[in-house]
Amino acid sequence: MGLTYQRIVLKLSGEALMGELSYGIDPDIVQSIAEEIADVTANGVQVAVVVGGGNIFRGIKGAAAGMDRATADYIGMIATVMNAMTLQDALERMEVPTRVQTAISMQQIAEPYIRRRAIRHLEKGRIIIFGAGSGNPFFTTDTTAALRAAEIGADVVFKATKVDGVYDSDPRTNPNARRYQTLNYAHVLNKDLRVMDSTAISLCKENNIPIIVFDLSVKGNIRKAVMGDPIGTLVGGLCEVS
Ligand code: UDP
Repeated sequence: MGLTYQRIVLKLSGEALMGELSYGIDPDIVQSIAEEIADVTANGVQVAVVVGGGNIFRGIKGAAAGMDRATADYIGMIATVMNAMTLQDALERMEVPTRVQTAISMQQIAEPYIRRRAIRHLEKGRIIIFGAGSGNPFFTTDTTAALRAAEIGADVVFKATKVDGVYDSDPRTNPNARRYQTLNYAHVLNKDLRVMDSTAISLCKENNIPIIVFDLSVKGNIRKAVMGDPIGTLVGGLCEVS
């Protein structure tokens, strides 16, 4: 397997784990994502996963309902740990060695986030799942993915979504919408394109970490992405539409 990317950070939103459900976790979806991650790991790719929590709780929604925003965000971070443990369970049932590291200490169930230890795990072929976001309220797991990618020296951030890339307008309402094959960071920021939040984009820009936005529901896409096949949209190059 000719690898373009050796060490990746895969950002999985909570919604990706939800499948067609309206809340929570679809075990079949988690299983199929775990299989795809295991496949690339078996081929020598070092995989660190950052999981979201939007399928369970989002701080901003709690705040809109009158909760204290920071408290709501901490609850959101705890939600991501449930997802992290679920993914770990699916991987370990396939006998793939995995470690969960959390940014908020929960030592009975996971390791605390320790950067050097995370890198060591990756070098030993263990999949790392980062839970509890960055540990800070007012941030997102997208920003966490960019931050961890910079910290562990990842080659790329894979932003797995439900759409096959970034469009110049909404493809659901505009039949002439065109998908970008590549985009530069400045364009994403200036046009406020919904790739990841602006803090995440800025971190990737400053650290020259490319982002690949792709549809996770298409089987084999993670494998294609690590091999450099042009799927979805690559942020970090010039702007080209397909
Ligand atoms: N969160 C946070 N700090 C972080 C990461 C996440 O406070 O560094 C909270 C925030 O409330 C967020 C929730 O955790 O709404 C779930 O994360 P996110 O919305 O990023 O999940 P996703 O949209 O990827 O499912």
